[in-house]
Order: sequence, then structure tokens, then C-alpha cells
Amino acid sequence: MSSCCSNTKIDLEPEKVSEKPITSSSSENCPACIRQGRLVSIKTLYHHLKQPWQLGNDSEPFYFCENTTCQVVYFSKTKQILNSELRHSVSKFKEEKTLCYCFNISVADYLETPCLLDFVVEKTKAKDCACDVQNPSGRCCLKDFKKVKSV
Ligand SMILES: [Zn+2]
Repeated sequence: MSSCCSNTKIDLEPEKVSEKPITSSSSENCPACIRQGRLVSIKTLYHHLKQPWQLGNDSEPFYFCENTTCQVVYFSKTKQILNSELRHSVSKFKEEKTLCYCFNISVADYLETPCLLDFVVEKTKAKDCACDVQNPSGRCCLKDFKKVKSV
């Protein structure tokens, strides 16, 4: 029989947890090139800036500009961080572009030795990667491997 009249039914379905942080949007447009940049962890910035202490205790969200022709790498509402302010410049040209920062694999390396992807997948599964600090985007590089293949 249906228990639709019961008022005691408790909704046990957990609320879907949004991956988006509540206080900041997950993307903003780069002030230099107007392309969309993705939210990046402040921890990632600390590991890529030449002078991370200059960020101070700024808690405003930073975004990563993926545009390969844009000199701005990170930006917030009030600051822009250029390629020249990073310890290792983010390589801008397609073939030289680093695909995997954890294991130092460039686009050219991958095109020459496609099975490098298997290595990265294996190491990522084993949690031997460190994308959140090594990759300037703060994100896993596996998506970027797919982009190269689809070009
Ligand atoms: Zn940009």
C-alpha cells in the first residue's frame, strides 16, 4: 500500500554537493585577452611564483589564463601575474608546451613517444603525480593529452 499520506517520511537523498566554491565563481575572463580563465588554488600560485610572499595574505580568488598567446598567467580582480614572474615560464609555443609538469613531458615528447601517456596514467592512478603544485593550471594534465590527440 502507498504511504503517501505519511508526513514522517524523511528525504534521505543527500543534497548534491556542488564542486564550485560558494564564494567565488569557477571561471572569470582574463583582463588582458578576455578569454575565460579557470579558478586556481592559491597553493598552486605559491609553488610557481618567483616571489610568492608578494601575494601577502590576499585571499581573493586567482584564475589561470590558458591562452597560449597571453602574457598573463594568473589574474585576480586586482592583480595580474605575468609569465615573467613565474619560476619557470609557462611555455607558450605548441610543440614546446609542457603537457605534464609532474613528469616533464612536452607536446613534442608525446608526439614522438605516444606511450608516455600510459606512463602518466599509471603514475596518476598510483597518486605519484603532483598536479596541484606542479602544473601551473593546478589541474590534472590528462585532459591536455587528449587535446593534443584530437588536433
Ligand atoms: Zn589571458
